[in-house]
Amino acid sequence: MKHDHTHAPEATAVHGFSPGFAALGIEARLLATLEALGYEEPTPIQREAIPPLLAGKDVLGQAATGTGKTAAFTLPLLQRIAHSPKTKPSAIILVPTRELAIQVGEAVGRYGKELRTSVLPLYGGQAIGPQMHALKRGVDVIVATPGRALDHIRRHTLKLEGVQIVVLDEADEMLDMGFAEDLDAILEHTPAAKQTALFSATMPPRIQSIAHRHLQQPVEITIAKEAVKAGSAPRVQQAAYIVTR
Ligand code: AMP
Repeated sequence: MKHDHTHAPEATAVHGFSPGFAALGIEARLLATLEALGYEEPTPIQREAIPPLLAGKDVLGQAATGTGKTAAFTLPLLQRIAHSPKTKPSAIILVPTRELAIQVGEAVGRYGKELRTSVLPLYGGQAIGPQMHALKRGVDVIVATPGRALDHIRRHTLKLEGVQIVVLDEADEMLDMGFAEDLDAILEHTPAAKQTALFSATMPPRIQSIAHRHLQQPVEITIAKEAVKAGSAPRVQQAAYIVTR
């Protein structure tokens, strides 16, 4: 396909090997994926969170969306579960909304392409039958809203005994939406020996309390939002893809 110009090239720009990600301990197949995606350097949250997560430590991270948080927890997660059996989910990522479940599910699929990691988003408002079928076939990573995850756990269609990693993403939003009890119930169904990462844009006492209950000696990371000068707009990340006519 290399010389077939009727196909849009995946990325025409030349990207260097990602030394920044390699230095953090990211393995070759993921580096190749990052290179294809055009990620040249890790963002601050990635620089701080990837090494402890790869080492299996719990992480409590304060970071907003748009900081590269998703890759910060997804890359180490993929690398750590790469050799786990496919029969039961090895990781579960809990998110507050259906939109985020879809978005994070797509990110996991994109980053995990080379590793052939399978991912299933589970959220309410979607027919439960196809979700049950997909769960039965076996999946590596679940990205779910708490209500629907608990629904499947209670139906015995989602079994979490193989889970090695739990990520609570946008934990403050999940608590605002009244998911605190659901989160506790879900976590009770996961093995005691696991890695847990909690990310939240804010760290009010109720987040600290959930962190205290579920994280073990977490590495704490705070990524301050970039200060925006009065009268100017926040920076926006832009990307351009050069394609053939
Ligand atoms: P997130 O905060 O995880 O939602 O990521 C925000 C956006 O930044 C997403 O579109 C990512 O694809 C992109 N992104 C994340 N990390 C990097 C990186 N190291 N280099 C370039 N883009 C990135």
